Amino acid sequence: MASKIEIFDTTLRDGEQSPGVSLNSYEKLEIAKQLAKLQVDVIEAGFPIASNGDFNAVKTIAENVKGPVIAGLARANFKDIDRAAEAVKAAERPRIHTFIASSPIHMKYKLKMTPEQVLEAAVEAVKRAKSYVEDVEFSAEDASRSEVEFLCKLFSAAINAGATVINIPDTVGYATPEEFGSLVKTLRERVPEMDKVKISVHCHNDLGMAVANSLAAVQNGATQIECAVNGLGERAGNAALEEVVMALVTRKDLYNVDLNIDTKHIYRTSKLVSTLSGIYVQPNKAIVGANAFAHESGIHQHGVLSEKSTYEIMTPESIGLSSNRLVLGKLSGRHAFAQRLKKMGYELDDEELNKAFERFKDLADKKKEITDKDIEALVEDQVLKIPQLIVLEYFQTSSGNQTISTATVKVKIGEKSVEEASTGDGPIDATYRALERACNIDCKLVDYSIKSVSGGKDAMGEVIVKIEKDGKLFTGRGLSTDIIEASALAYTNALNKTLWNNGNGR
Ligand SMILES: [Zn+2]
Repeated sequence: MASKIEIFDTTLRDGEQSPGVSLNSYEKLEIAKQLAKLQVDVIEAGFPIASNGDFNAVKTIAENVKGPVIAGLARANFKDIDRAAEAVKAAERPRIHTFIASSPIHMKYKLKMTPEQVLEAAVEAVKRAKSYVEDVEFSAEDASRSEVEFLCKLFSAAINAGATVINIPDTVGYATPEEFGSLVKTLRERVPEMDKVKISVHCHNDLGMAVANSLAAVQNGATQIECAVNGLGERAGNAALEEVVMALVTRKDLYNVDLNIDTKHIYRTSKLVSTLSGIYVQPNKAIVGANAFAHESGIHQHGVLSEKSTYEIMTPESIGLSSNRLVLGKLSGRHAFAQRLKKMGYELDDEELNKAFERFKDLADKKKEITDKDIEALVEDQVLKIPQLIVLEYFQTSSGNQTISTATVKVKIGEKSVEEASTGDGPIDATYRALERACNIDCKLVDYSIKSVSGGKDAMGEVIVKIEKDGKLFTGRGLSTDIIEASALAYTNALNKTLWNNGNGR
């Protein structure tokens, strides 16, 4: 009989620690809802002690997202654990995930604790967590560089103190598949209590082996894999959820395990995370990259046309990519548009649908053929918008290679309209300066990127900006067939988030 592997998603915790990523609680909730649709077993929603924002995000998710276990991370001390317990309290199935480092190097230089002290702290932490919730996960940070003898002692003590999940992290991404698989095997052999609990692994991708290490662990008895959508995470990231899942599904002949995941939601989840995090997926990325199912060479195309399995080991439909290449246009009706949205996995209420249809019609006036990619961008832009305190009313720019660029903008802030102008180094810089002036917000642009959503001269441009204000990072996104407008909208969106963060919003 196939054994069951649980998928523990840490996009909102480890993934959110990716350099350049910052998600607000509204965005985290959107991602958590999508993860529930994907049917992950566990959502690690955040690190509640880290900040009030983190605490609130975990609490909101615990209150609103049903289905998966909701976990909160805590170091092995009472303060962290009490805070995590408070945050996950309302969840249908709450879990506290507590951790302490176990490698000689971490114990000596980071914790400045002896192994005995670490062992005692671990036991106390698990007991404390257990006083709040039934489900307690214990992690030995940097396990892959720890002494096996000590790991055995530590895990045995944690299980006897009440841990229900034991996590073995390759925190620094140092292990190789053979080594890591054998570590899992050894621990299972030497710690008899391991049979009573779930065995989890958490692999980092510093040497590009996170997925391979996780799969090796499965072959040696691991029953839970920690991973993140699009492989987000500290440094080079975590094991990519979509890769782990599709490897286990596609090679069921080899791994012989069952998953709860509804793979048809993979593509949409990946897209949502990339949009909200502002981290694009590379085109040649396995499973979710734009080229993952594209066949370029004539020989391959010919093969796939006569029999898909010649070059395709899995279908685009299995991850929720529609092979529907039909385009919509000016004459497409509301019904056809609604049908298409449904097929793409979007559930909009009547009011949202009306709004989306209006924008679709506007776009159809400017762009002849509207593809799934355009619709996806439009809808996400609309659904994911936080309440807008600042609205761009109009902008006008003038520039050229012989003149100084100038921009005039008019924004509505709450009830009042403000108009400002500025010069700048190019039309976008001028627009941004004028916007800052009009909104009276002092911030720094740290990143700007633009790409086209679909092909063709009339393609929509998607701009993502990252701005820094008071040491905090805010991501904004804008969409338009006019790149200066897309740029202005992205900046306005990011400025909105700075206000929203100050407690003016939800
Ligand atoms: Zn990690």
